[in-house]
Amino acid sequence: MLIDTQIITTEKPYTLSLDLKASDLQEYLDNTEGIINEKGVHVQGKIIKEDKDRFVLRFRLTADMIYPCSRCLESTSYTCLYDYEEIVKVDEENPVIDIIEYIVDVLYINEPMKVLCDEDCKGLCMHCGINLNEESCQCDKQNAIDPRFEKLKDLLNN
Ligand SMILES: [Zn+2]
Ligand SMILES: [Zn+2]
Repeated sequence: MLIDTQIITTEKPYTLSLDLKASDLQEYLDNTEGIINEKGVHVQGKIIKEDKDRFVLRFRLTADMIYPCSRCLESTSYTCLYDYEEIVKVDEENPVIDIIEYIVDVLYINEPMKVLCDEDCKGLCMHCGINLNEESCQCDKQNAIDPRFEKLKDLLNN
């Protein structure tokens, strides 16, 4: 999505108001586990001309993303509200701003380190892999003493 900066004057900033579908952006987000939900991404802001080839790009991005819970992998909705401001220098030959590039950047820069389905998510059992929020297992009791350590103890004792 290219914005021709030649239509922007110092007196009159360009109003950015975009509603992007998840499908418009998802293909650029291949290094994230996040998925944009069906409401898409909303971008509201301005492009202000500073100089012949310098513009201030300023916008707020809002979206709902779906991430796997960091503990149990359950799909978890995450509300994004990110503000962005950057000085953009455009090429004199081709004075356009590729807005998608910046939107994708913003999504990456702000990607959450950890998303939890619930503060108290119990996660998956490390031994049998069941979701401990839904079921319980006996692994904890059985593995209280790891059999490998048991063997080691025998060896040390002999
Ligand atoms: Zn979880
Ligand atoms: Zn288990």
